[in-house]
Amino acid sequence: MLKVGINGYGTIGKRVADAVAAQPDMTVCGVAKASPDFGADGAIQRGYPLYSALEDRVGAFREAGYDVAGTTEELIETSEIVVDATPGGIGAENLPRYEAAGVPAILQGKEADDLVETSFNARANFEKAKGADATRVVSCNTTGLSRLVAPLEEAYGIEKVRATLVRRGGDPDQTGRGPINDILPDPISVPSHHGPDVNTIFPDLSIDTLGLKVPATLMHMHSLNIELESEPTSEEVRELLGGESRIFVVDEELAIDGTGKLREFARDRDRPRGDLWENCVWGESVNVRGSELYLFQAIHQESDVIPENVDAIRAMTGLAGKEESMAMTDESLGIGLPDAQQVPTLSPTP
Ligand code: NAD
Repeated sequence: MLKVGINGYGTIGKRVADAVAAQPDMTVCGVAKASPDFGADGAIQRGYPLYSALEDRVGAFREAGYDVAGTTEELIETSEIVVDATPGGIGAENLPRYEAAGVPAILQGKEADDLVETSFNARANFEKAKGADATRVVSCNTTGLSRLVAPLEEAYGIEKVRATLVRRGGDPDQTGRGPINDILPDPISVPSHHGPDVNTIFPDLSIDTLGLKVPATLMHMHSLNIELESEPTSEEVRELLGGESRIFVVDEELAIDGTGKLREFARDRDRPRGDLWENCVWGESVNVRGSELYLFQAIHQESDVIPENVDAIRAMTGLAGKEESMAMTDESLGIGLPDAQQVPTLSPTP
C-alpha cells in the first residue's frame, strides 16, 4: 500500500483523502491542517492521523482536544508521496520541502505550471507524469475543458475552441467571497488566462476563453463553441461524450434544468457531499451546425479534480498505467452515472 500524505485538508484535501482511502493500492498516512477548526473532526472521525501544518499551532490543536501526530515535516517524512492541497501559492513555498525530503509531490491548479515537470489530466496526458517528482493537477475549469477536448480532438480534430466560463463566486463554505448581487467580467481582459492553462495540457490547441463570476456557489457553467475539422452529427457527438466515464451526458428526460437540480440529483444518488466528479453536459445542448459544435457543461469545482489526483499518484509512482488506473479510480468512487433506466433498486427500509 502506497503511503499518501495530504498537506492541506480543506475543500480539496478532505475529498482527496477520502478518495485515496477508497483505493485498494494506497493508504492515507496523515493529513495536515493549519487550524483546529471543524475540519479536524472529519479527519479524526475517519481515522486519518492529524498533523499541524504550522509548528506553533501544535499546542492549539491539543488545547482544542485533537490528538496531533506531529507537524508537516514529520508527515512528509512518513509519506511516499504528498498531495499538496494548501491554498494557492503555498504549494510553491512547500515544494522545496518535498524536494529536500526526496518525496514526490502533486500541486493543485492555482500553482504556476513552470514549478513542476508536467501539468496533469488523466484522460489527456497520463503518461507524461510517469516518474515525475512534481506535477500539478490543473484547475477545476481546465480539468473540465481537457476532458471534453481530448475525445473531440481524437475523433474529429479541433480547429478552435471558444469557451465562456461562468464561474461560481466561491465554494459553499467561503462566506467571505462574492459577488453577492452582481455579474462580474472576471478577468475583464479578453481572452482570459484560462485558455493558456488548457495549453499546459494541449500545447497546440487553439483556444480562447472569457471569464465571468456570478453569485453562485454550486458549480461553474461553461458555454462552448468548438470548431471541428470534420462534420459529425449532433447524435454522434452525444454518443462519443456519453462513452467517456468522466462525462455525464444529462438526459432530457431527467428534467435537470440547472446546477441546483444537478447537485440534488447527486445527493439523491447518495454521492458523498453531493459531489459530481464528472463533467455534466446537457444532451439537448449538444448541437452541431456544419463543423461548429455548441454545448453547455456544468463543472463541480469542489470535486472534478479528485479522481485526477488519484490517477496522478499512480502515474508518478508507476502503480498502474492509464486505463487500469482510471478504471480503478472510477470503480472505487462510483464514477459514471447510469442512465435513468439503470437505477439500482434500493431495498425497502424496514
Ligand atoms: P481550502 O482553503 O478549502 O483548504 C486549504 C487547506 O489548507 C485548509 O485546511 C487550511 O487549513 C490549510 N492550510 C492553510 N495554510 C496552510 C499551510 N501553510 N500548510 C498546510 N496547510 C495549510 O482550499 P481549497 O479550495 O481546498 O484549495 C486548495 C487548492 O486546490 C488551491 O490551489 C486551489 O486553487 C485548488 N483548487 C480548488 C478548487 C475549489 O473549487 N475549491 C478546485 C480545484 C482546485
